[in-house]
Amino acid sequence: MAGSEALFRETSQKEMTQKEMPQKEMPQKEMPHPEAVILDIQRMSTEDGPGLRTTVFFKGCNLSCPWCHNPESIDKKPVVTWFPRRCIGCGICRKACPQKGISSGEEGIRFNRSLCLACGTCAEECPGGAIEIKGRNIPVDKLAAELLKDFFYFGKDGGVTLSGGEVMVQHEAALELTRLLKAAGINIAIDTAGCYDFSLLEAMLPYIDLVLYDLKIFDSEAHKRLLGAGNSLILENYRRLMDMKVRVWVRTPIIPGATDSEENIAAIGNFIAKAGRAGDDIPAGRGENSPGTPAVNLPERWELCAFNKLCRDKYDALDRDWAYKDAGLTEKTHIEKLTMIAARYFPGAVYTGAVAETGGEP
Ligand code: SF4
Ligand code: SF4
Repeated sequence: MAGSEALFRETSQKEMTQKEMPQKEMPQKEMPHPEAVILDIQRMSTEDGPGLRTTVFFKGCNLSCPWCHNPESIDKKPVVTWFPRRCIGCGICRKACPQKGISSGEEGIRFNRSLCLACGTCAEECPGGAIEIKGRNIPVDKLAAELLKDFFYFGKDGGVTLSGGEVMVQHEAALELTRLLKAAGINIAIDTAGCYDFSLLEAMLPYIDLVLYDLKIFDSEAHKRLLGAGNSLILENYRRLMDMKVRVWVRTPIIPGATDSEENIAAIGNFIAKAGRAGDDIPAGRGENSPGTPAVNLPERWELCAFNKLCRDKYDALDRDWAYKDAGLTEKTHIEKLTMIAARYFPGAVYTGAVAETGGEP
């Protein structure tokens, strides 16, 4: 926070100086742009908000969801990954590593991650393209310029989504990025788990058009056990967004044995309905955001996101076991039932993602 406050202080001092001083006497020194550490930029996305979007994934996360679909984004620093199917076993990487951090055995090469500096030498030298460094530092003005190249396909509804990891782990870089993009007229969404001081998100709200907000587990003890932190801050921050009538899409990942119980969905639904109660009974049709819908504090959409295993190779590439490697797709009948329960509290509830027609495929 201290950094953000300093940023605001410096900005307002600069604005004051510009008003009071003749232009020719103004110091022309520009504020340096902060650097962001990003994992990836995904283009033409249809899953991170309305319309066609470009999603930028920030690195670093303050939760530890065991089902995470972007495990390379959890560490804020760049990380080395290895894809065995592309490895020809030449051993060049082992010799090239200045840290002597690579060894080889029966199962292929192994990284000593405590020695690795993510310098990228092994990836550059590898003839098979089997090693990749996940993550790069980029000044925010350059990142904004890169994202603005996609302007041509955003259309009326699309734009840029900031995702992660948890974007707020890099809140100064994210704030500056949203300022630059908004100044260029871009529609901006942010995908967040909401587990931080509300002031971080509040500072960004003037530049954000939509918040994609995760509500995963309602029971705080279970939340703490599985995700590494209780959910009181997340629930309180959600209420504050609703009170401020911010445009929100709630997202609940449907994870086998963790979030996919009827009790959990009912409890989240009840919370959404209560948070939307502006003192009166909730009118029928709320949440559909249709013209004439009374102005109560509800999200525009609630998505139950079906589990999939598309990230399994990412865990292998990081030498990490994944608790969900043998889990199947969510069964259609199950997610339909959960969606029906969700719709009792919020008629706009939908499910998204691929599902299994009968029984989960391993
Ligand atoms: S990224 Fe650099 S330090 Fe890390 S394993 Fe490769 S060569 Fe060694
Ligand atoms: S340099 Fe590449 S191909 Fe050769 S052993 Fe290392 S990872 Fe495998």
